[in-house]
Amino acid sequence: MEKRQLRIALAGNPNSGKTTIFNNLTGTRQKVGNWPGVTVEKKEGDIHKFGHDIKIIDLPGTYSLTPFSIEEIVARDFILDENPDVVIDIIDASNLERNLYLANQLRELDCKVIFALNMADVARSRGFKIDARKLSELLGVPVVFTVGNKNEGLDDLLKTAIELAASPLEIPEERRVRYSHDIEAAIREMRDYIDSRDGVTLSYDPRWTAVKLLEGDKIIKDRIREKMADQSEKILEKAEQLRGQLSKRLDDEPEIVMTDERYGFIAGIIKEVMSTSTRQRVDISRNIDLVLTNRFLGFPIFIFFIWAMFQITFTLGVYPMEWIDAGVGYLSAFFEYVLPDSVLKDLIIDGVIAGVGSIAIFLPNILLLFFCIALFEDTGYMARAAFLMDKIMHLIGLHGKSFIPMLMGFGCNVPAIIATRSLESRKDRILTILITPFMSCSARLPVYIVLAGTFFAAHAGTVIFMIYLFGIAVAIVSGRLFRTALLKGEDAPFVMELPPYRVPMMKNLLIHMWDRSKMFLKKMGGIILVGSIVIWVLSSYPQHIQYSKDYDAQIEQVKQSYDDKISRSDAVKAARLQQEQSARIETLASAKEAERAEKSYIGRIGKFIEPVFEPIGIDWRGSVALLTGFVAKEIVVSTMGVLYAAEGDAESDALRNALQESGMTALSALSMMIFVLLYVPCLATLGAIGRETGSMKWTFFNLGYTTAVAWGMSFVVYQGGRLLGF
Ligand code: GDP
Ligand code: MG
Repeated sequence: MEKRQLRIALAGNPNSGKTTIFNNLTGTRQKVGNWPGVTVEKKEGDIHKFGHDIKIIDLPGTYSLTPFSIEEIVARDFILDENPDVVIDIIDASNLERNLYLANQLRELDCKVIFALNMADVARSRGFKIDARKLSELLGVPVVFTVGNKNEGLDDLLKTAIELAASPLEIPEERRVRYSHDIEAAIREMRDYIDSRDGVTLSYDPRWTAVKLLEGDKIIKDRIREKMADQSEKILEKAEQLRGQLSKRLDDEPEIVMTDERYGFIAGIIKEVMSTSTRQRVDISRNIDLVLTNRFLGFPIFIFFIWAMFQITFTLGVYPMEWIDAGVGYLSAFFEYVLPDSVLKDLIIDGVIAGVGSIAIFLPNILLLFFCIALFEDTGYMARAAFLMDKIMHLIGLHGKSFIPMLMGFGCNVPAIIATRSLESRKDRILTILITPFMSCSARLPVYIVLAGTFFAAHAGTVIFMIYLFGIAVAIVSGRLFRTALLKGEDAPFVMELPPYRVPMMKNLLIHMWDRSKMFLKKMGGIILVGSIVIWVLSSYPQHIQYSKDYDAQIEQVKQSYDDKISRSDAVKAARLQQEQSARIETLASAKEAERAEKSYIGRIGKFIEPVFEPIGIDWRGSVALLTGFVAKEIVVSTMGVLYAAEGDAESDALRNALQESGMTALSALSMMIFVLLYVPCLATLGAIGRETGSMKWTFFNLGYTTAVAWGMSFVVYQGGRLLGF
């Protein structure tokens, strides 16, 4: 029998376990993309279970279906317009009251709904007893208990969903949400008015439409305008008139009164179905919070965690780094051996392997960093960090919630900028977006590792940590500046959510880590590869250049004169002469190579822009590296790999030696690190800023501001350091 594919959508509050259940239901058969038109993550997966082809769609997590945020709009539009066969609302049973708001709004839509009481284990451990049968009876919706992270109840859930999909849609009387007398009267009047209009066909349930019109729902009003041009004005007028009447009678906006009534209803439900055992287990989360969000201890502990994150990133990263390093070395040696001398060989060894290889060795660091960030998120600590930062964030007129995107920025600025969508106020969003690029992303890390590792050897970790702190400081100062000068306004009052602590699941941590690191790998195979090749071409051509001296002749001369002397000396003296000879030849050869590089295309570009970077202590090679870093900051290191280690060796040691010989000092290295920290974010980030602010003005402003700040700060550090005699 040919069966149609069932479509099951998962809705639910953030942190209710939606993604966990989605992952467990779909396994590896997932597709990740964006919702059409907006960049909110869209996950779906096709499975075959219990004899049905099923598509599972993970809707964005929301607390309600009131269309305030993009997530809410996306979730509601999907349910309204795409008509999934069943909507499963994943409810955090340990937070039943808060989660029931969304559940209740789903009930109001005339779609097939199931409530999954997830986190049943947590609810139990806190001593909550929930009467699922009663809940189901009261609300007219099937209810299933699940424990998402242990895969418990999921089969049951799926079976219930399939059964529900097969049964005809009937909305039992209990499911009707009732409002108080005045509001019900207005709803009825609105509905009758809509029904009485000729030729009006609504795609949504008429009662629901009436409710939304009385609430002044902007999106529904727009839909009505679109769908029934000639009738819409009258209908909207009627709605306004009824809203006016209601406001007068209720002494408040109808939508506020209706929200209050919904909460009242929920409070009543809670009383009916939930009981708390008297010997309630002490709430572990609250105890942990006594320490972690303590007024005095909280902040030092937070700094310690961040410090530990970087320590783990570096110390654990060293070992795999060495393996990859060795692997790159072998690969290079292998090609050296098998390929005949040719341009292609040079391209592969000096361009591709030197460039991509110098980045590949940082993969372990980046994986570890993302792992730590996933750990913060999945344990629930991230929200505490935001809570702790609340005071500091208020200095720049933002609240702690803005700190979450900023902290994510340590991984990659692009998802961080997208994460600002959780902020309600547009000004807050723009402000957060503008300062997030100062959060040092993982792509900048390789630059620090190379430079700090070379010039601050034993103190590298501390120096890098300070660089990160410096980025935060610049972000705070800039934020203050923007708030007073450009984005005036109050920060909206806000209650920070503190979800309970959870022991994270390894599988989820790994999935989160992988999701984000994938981008790094993609970049390595794409833009960094192309970048390395372009840099190599620019640095190896033109091939025939006019040298200021005839190096070859001089080398030949040195050879000859020493060979003569050697042949006339005794064994001991000959050995010494031999050494002297190779040293002199070496000097000449590297002088030749230096001149060649300077006269290559890239050398000319570098020389051209060098005056800009000279005052901050960066030579032409560094200048080129910074220029290319605009495309993606990883490229800074791969460019240096190609330019400095021109001898055809991608090993980081070689790059370090070359850097030390290039005349760079600890001070200029510091200046360069600060520049890399602050200057214009990469192309992808600028793209994200453009999309999320929807404004070219802010995008260009960010470009100009960050670059100016970077140059200014590096200048102060470099020139200041020189004055102090470093
Ligand atoms: P989402 O924001 O709704 O997508 O939530 P996630 O799926 O990311 O889950 C948030 C956290 O809750 C993760 O750390 C999960 O491991 C955990 N989690 C999910 N379901 C359960 C459950 O039933 N019991 C417990 N104790 N933890 C769960
Ligand atoms: Mg999720």
